[in-house]
Amino acid sequence: MRVAIPELDPSALYDVTVEDGHFSSVRAVAERDENDADTPELWPGFVEAHAHLALPANFDDSLDDPRISALQYLYHGITHVTDLFGFPLVKDGWEQGKRELGLPWPEVVHCGYAATATKDIDGHYGHGVEFPAPVFMLSVQDDLDTVLAANKARGATFLKVMYTEGAEQPESSKRFSRLPGNLLAHVPRVAAEHGLKAVIDCNTRDEVMQAYAFGFRIFAHPVRDVGLSAADWQTLEGARFVSTLSGLRPMIMEREDFLREYRRPGFRETQDLSNLDFVSKIEEPFGIQYEVQETRTAALVNMRDNSLAALERGALLIGTDCGNTGAFHGDALKGELDLLAGDDLGKPGLREALLRTATTTARGFFDELSGREPAGDLIAESSPATFNLIDPAAAGQPLSQLPRATYVRGTAVDRTALVRAIQDLRSTPTRGKVTV
Ligand SMILES: [Zn+2]
Repeated sequence: MRVAIPELDPSALYDVTVEDGHFSSVRAVAERDENDADTPELWPGFVEAHAHLALPANFDDSLDDPRISALQYLYHGITHVTDLFGFPLVKDGWEQGKRELGLPWPEVVHCGYAATATKDIDGHYGHGVEFPAPVFMLSVQDDLDTVLAANKARGATFLKVMYTEGAEQPESSKRFSRLPGNLLAHVPRVAAEHGLKAVIDCNTRDEVMQAYAFGFRIFAHPVRDVGLSAADWQTLEGARFVSTLSGLRPMIMEREDFLREYRRPGFRETQDLSNLDFVSKIEEPFGIQYEVQETRTAALVNMRDNSLAALERGALLIGTDCGNTGAFHGDALKGELDLLAGDDLGKPGLREALLRTATTTARGFFDELSGREPAGDLIAESSPATFNLIDPAAAGQPLSQLPRATYVRGTAVDRTALVRAIQDLRSTPTRGKVTV
């Protein structure tokens, strides 16, 4: 096939062949015309950097069969998924689909059940216990070994720690969960002794600065209470942040926003359509109901600003927090790219930087959390042929466009077959839902 490969040389066209699931040749053959709106770009598979496969994304609180989630990812060209807690609850179904459906399947890494704090003296729980997926409790330092061993037994290859209270309000000093600083200070070190990376869930600048001082470097969200200053970024050298705009945004969206965003290609084909019925009846944003509309709107502005600042510094990971209500597997990552691009998609280099971050960079993150050796060059002779073919910049499409084609280890993904498999699962007595 004749393609452009911006990751190798944006000014060249290549001839690429695939045999036995691997690239058999990748040869530069011509110069690329930047006005060429037809020859596709070849990018590695997309990677979701922050998912929750066992949380109910649907507005009726139902949880889709994990086989459906896997098919939703593939439909959108997402070949790798980082689950930031919950996966053990749906692992059997996920693996059953991989065995039985005879379709390419996404790869997943996960953190077991993660850790949070117990209830504090004011009656506030550690963030994470509000979700219908178990997390282990940390109370004293000795709990750490138990929590790490238990996570490992669940198949975890990294640790996720819930540190935020998640309900910060302007001018309120109450920011942290009960998880005490003197305990948190040991977590990255003890995790490292177990050979595990530690991801921390924080929201505010104060939380991030404190966690950074304790040795955490991977943050599950960007800072959302303020825009970080140049001096802050200097202090946070080596820290990385997952964007997660899609997980928060449904809180503040109007009916028209939902209906517009859920028109993204592939939504109707893959998602539970009762969600469209639900949002078409929304009278006012949830944020107004919960009296957080202004703070969450401001939070999203800060999160995007901080994400773009992170992108410039090579500190951004693109993930969605999908599994939270209204952020759907597969679809949300495409929405996330549109939200990050905003009205700036034409800005020199932004489109390529976002695509690189959602593919090559995120794959490095996935491999790192998996504890495996990094995959090395993703687009090279003898590397697994897992990639998407995407319309070039000159075609003027938003980043939420569907890939023209997706290949997983040399096998072309047949979208019609995926939709049929989803429909089959949704037409069973359980309507494609599971209870965990
Ligand atoms: Zn999350």
